[in-house]
Amino acid sequence: MTSHTFHLVSLGCAKNTVDSESIGQILTVNGYTHTLDPQQAGVLIVNTCGFIGPAKEESYQALADLAETKLDGQLLIAAGCLTQRYGQQVLERVPGIDGLLGTRRWMDILTLIEKLRGRQHPQPLYHLPSDAHTVGTDEGEILRASIEGPSAYIKISDGCRRPCAFCAIPLIKGTLVSRPIESVLRDAVRLQQRGVREVILIAQDTTDFGNDLGLKNGLAHLLNELAAAAPAIDWIRVMYAYPGYVTDELIETMAGLPQVLPYLDIPLQHGHPQTLRRMRRPANIDWVHHTIGKMRQTIPNLAIRTTFIVGYPGETEEEFQTLLDFAAEMRFDRVGAFTFSFEPGTTSEPFGDPVPKEVKLERLDRLMTQQQHISLAANQALIDQTLDVLIEAYGESEVGQPPLAVGRSYRDAPEIDGLVFVEQHPRLASLPAIGEIVPVKINGALTYDLTGVHASGV
Ligand code: SF4
Repeated sequence: MTSHTFHLVSLGCAKNTVDSESIGQILTVNGYTHTLDPQQAGVLIVNTCGFIGPAKEESYQALADLAETKLDGQLLIAAGCLTQRYGQQVLERVPGIDGLLGTRRWMDILTLIEKLRGRQHPQPLYHLPSDAHTVGTDEGEILRASIEGPSAYIKISDGCRRPCAFCAIPLIKGTLVSRPIESVLRDAVRLQQRGVREVILIAQDTTDFGNDLGLKNGLAHLLNELAAAAPAIDWIRVMYAYPGYVTDELIETMAGLPQVLPYLDIPLQHGHPQTLRRMRRPANIDWVHHTIGKMRQTIPNLAIRTTFIVGYPGETEEEFQTLLDFAAEMRFDRVGAFTFSFEPGTTSEPFGDPVPKEVKLERLDRLMTQQQHISLAANQALIDQTLDVLIEAYGESEVGQPPLAVGRSYRDAPEIDGLVFVEQHPRLASLPAIGEIVPVKINGALTYDLTGVHASGV
């Protein structure tokens, strides 16, 4: 174990992964090395998630595991959303933590380590100032992105100013703070130089980008700037759009820029206006029909991903049936669905959690079973078509079967959507390389995934 080694556990969403990457970069450029073996590390860091119950428990367990085997002289730091929201509880539940680093203070990791090494007494040190004054300023050499093979997530803002009743993120992250456009563009240029083919724009709400910088249609503006600054980035993917803020200008910008994928992730959360009102979410279903209709007209082959919550307090069978009918009618390409998770401190707290667990699970099952049919039908409609696929790995193929590559098409965001299994072209000596974007002739459809043959023009 040496003092200038660190072991970092990153939990939660892609936005947290970007913060973990930034913490790692700061330590590395200051002479630290990362180790996968916690016993070899002078500094142990867990970047926690505090979003919903199961995620919190996973964070507590990761901290407890490291605290249990902690050696003399090692520092254990709890960072991220759970720490920001429940600092005191975290210390009470996991004795042995030396320091707490707030979710917006990732850039202060070195300061905290120096303070901990210099302290006179064993008391844990808090470093939780939630003031956002530094977030949004230029992060200098630190790449606010996380690279996953040929793809990278770029975090364009932090925090959120929306009033969603079930959501704890504004309690943890505070209000919206957009990054300066120049620093986002600089990240894209650096990723382009590293050969990244796809950038995925993430935030709590990408459609609100630049609002705090006085920008109207900030996301559309950013997409235009990104396409100009990083022309060699093949794919730009937009996640986490907020209903009501997908403007005509954004739709036209997405349609007009070939690098911007015809793909949008827009969590709608429900389909019944009453439920949406109780959720304090945009409840104008006509707007959803109109805007999704307009997007599908304007952006050819558009793939739409959405997210729904079932079992929200007060959700009746009639309200749920309306959601089911809405999802059947809209035929979204990709749907993620969750059961309502009670979160103390949110504006939905007074409603409690009245919908029984078995009812929530039964509704989740009905919704996802319906979606499986919709997804399979959408995939079957792609048979005999040719899609560009970003190759990310090689897969196992059965004995006597051609070797397989695995990738994603424009319809697939990493980790949450489908995959494309690519057979070797019969007249080519090998599979396409990882990181290549190649044409694939689709010859099979599964519920979420596709199969096909590499179709490069030989
Ligand atoms: S927009 Fe998303 S992050 Fe913001 S409050 Fe609503 S659910 Fe939470």
